[in-house]
Amino acid sequence: MALHERNKIKPNIEDDVYAAADLSVSIPKYKFPAKEELPRNAYEIIHDELMMDGNARQNLATFCQTWLDPEIHKIMDECVDKNMIDKDEYPQTAEIEARCVHMLADLWNSPNAANTMGCSTTGSSEAAMLGGLAMKWRWRSRIKAKGKAADKPNLVMGPVQVCWHKFCRYWDVEIREIPMGGERLIMTPEEAVKRCDENTIGVVPTLGVTYTGQYEPVKEVADALDALQKKTGLDIPIHVDGASGGFLAPFVDPKFVWDFRIPRVQSINASGHKFGLAPLGVGWVIWRDKSDLPEELIFKVNYLGGDMPTFALNFSRPGGQIVSQYYNFLRLGKEGYRKIHQACYDTALYLSQEIEKMGIFKILYNGKGGIPALCWSLKEGINPGFTLYDLSDRLRSRGWQVAAYSMPPKREDLIVQRVLVRHGFSRDMGDLLIGDIKRCIEYFKNNPVAKPLTQQEAGGYKH
Ligand SMILES: *Cc1c(COP(=O)(O)O)cnc(C)c1O
Repeated sequence: MALHERNKIKPNIEDDVYAAADLSVSIPKYKFPAKEELPRNAYEIIHDELMMDGNARQNLATFCQTWLDPEIHKIMDECVDKNMIDKDEYPQTAEIEARCVHMLADLWNSPNAANTMGCSTTGSSEAAMLGGLAMKWRWRSRIKAKGKAADKPNLVMGPVQVCWHKFCRYWDVEIREIPMGGERLIMTPEEAVKRCDENTIGVVPTLGVTYTGQYEPVKEVADALDALQKKTGLDIPIHVDGASGGFLAPFVDPKFVWDFRIPRVQSINASGHKFGLAPLGVGWVIWRDKSDLPEELIFKVNYLGGDMPTFALNFSRPGGQIVSQYYNFLRLGKEGYRKIHQACYDTALYLSQEIEKMGIFKILYNGKGGIPALCWSLKEGINPGFTLYDLSDRLRSRGWQVAAYSMPPKREDLIVQRVLVRHGFSRDMGDLLIGDIKRCIEYFKNNPVAKPLTQQEAGGYKH
């Protein structure tokens, strides 16, 4: 560019971002932009718009990580170009993934951790798809060996996360979900076994049920399935959805038996980006034994160089989350994970005591026997002039995101509110939340909702 031309545009380049001509007009939203923008201008527009998303650390509805070590930010940056599928190009990233698989197999007490099978995924949902597929394939060979039709597979579960509904619909498996009943909000061995037959591909207990946070009784369900096998010969495997609990129980409650110590547990999934403390985008699925993962599900590709086995729904996938997971394993070890999670349990218990003291709430779960969370409803027969939906709405004005929702089938009448206590949520932040809940209640006392809905009228999240 000639010098005199550069001088012509110089003032434009030196413009303050907010004084730039480009930013004095509305930028295109839905039509593909015709012209370029300066990077810093484009960045600022986006940065400003993202402010409206709210503050992730005040999001007490999510199970996912919202606080990460500065070192993890660095690792994510260094790994931005690494593709998990290119195991030949990034052999060390692949090696790190393999180490994580073995470390998890060891953490989950695999009898033969060095020889186990497993892989990273995008999250527990993909991990559930892979675990479910392996169960379906194994069932198919079992039922075919009996000379019977393999056309009516079913899967038995408690009140599960939506990924299992997806699995069943996407892969044509009948879903046998145990409805809640009265005070029982999780699976029991009797209810599970009642729904099992020769077409049952497996039973899925959840370690950390989405609605309440409670652990389902894996060991008791396994014992009941042992008894069923003795009586009928049916050998039904267990896959544990340990999305949250898989990264909690081994550290905080190592004597609690839920994992590969139970012979019937054939596979386990967990979300690295939940209590595994890794950034968003990593889950894990581990099989007890190589033979539990049917060979036909593994594809071998050679077009990246080498002969790479792959079992995943996606092909290309970012590597930074997996490397960050490995960083956490090294940085924290069992000791570090235990300390972080224990602090969260203590805060959850503290919060539930404070909320109970307010007098109008019934604590349904306080973090004991499940994940570091708490869950409450309004006391029966009470009408404080607002519903939990109103309270949730009002808390939003201080930036808090506290989910209010109804329970799944048979207990849709029960509306609850839930708070997840995660890494990075300090006791002080807890006190700020408690103060705000009290202020909201006070506000509703003086400004009752025009026509407070009954819990049922308020409806809400339908399963
Ligand atoms: C979060 C969760 C899932 C889904 O996991 P993602 O990692 O978000 O895909 C599955 N099951 C349970 C019990 C969960 O809590």
